[in-house]
Amino acid sequence: MSSRILQMTEALYGYLHGVSLREPEILARLRAETARHPRAGMQISPEQGQFMRLLIELLDVRRIVEIGVFTGYSGLSMALALPPDGKLIACDVSEEFTQVARRYWREAGVADRIELRLAPAAETLDRLIADGGAGGFDLAFIDADKENYDAYYEKCLVLLRPGGVLLIDNVLWSGRVARPEDTSRDTTALRALNEKLHRDERISLSMLPVGDGLTIARKRP
Ligand code: CA
Repeated sequence: MSSRILQMTEALYGYLHGVSLREPEILARLRAETARHPRAGMQISPEQGQFMRLLIELLDVRRIVEIGVFTGYSGLSMALALPPDGKLIACDVSEEFTQVARRYWREAGVADRIELRLAPAAETLDRLIADGGAGGFDLAFIDADKENYDAYYEKCLVLLRPGGVLLIDNVLWSGRVARPEDTSRDTTALRALNEKLHRDERISLSMLPVGDGLTIARKRP
């Protein structure tokens, strides 16, 4: 099958931003600050953040679990779209990176909607399940260490309500998933998860060539 996906040039990308991007000023500042970070590539793109905010509005999302916070762009983006009584449980292991996140969350006035859990995410997810959180979340966003994606996926499926939506980031992994000679652990893990989801009857599925590849899955009732 030949590709029906438009080749994105810098000029076209600039056009897309020019006619559609609505990035709140505080998100633009956080993005600029993170751009100077040595691991800046881990930050989602602004149009992806906007797409996620739209999804939150479309689905009337109130409770979110996020795995992988980094400097907080995606978390802030999602929290801004939540209603005032909404809640985002944010999982990360880095005190250093999430300090930046917390500073912006406070400034944006959404710190009370975000609960940061600094621990290995698998432990946090198990704790949420043990505390009766199963079926209590509307949206889960997985964007962390790729080798654990499958574990995060299974735990998030438990935490999501029927009809809840799962977003999985980096599923195209800069194209490495389609290069058989790449047998690195991250690539292998992503490839295995993508193949598993393709067959998984517990979900409805769409893989979008947005950013580095974004899978959207809906937990079937
Ligand atoms: Ca990512």
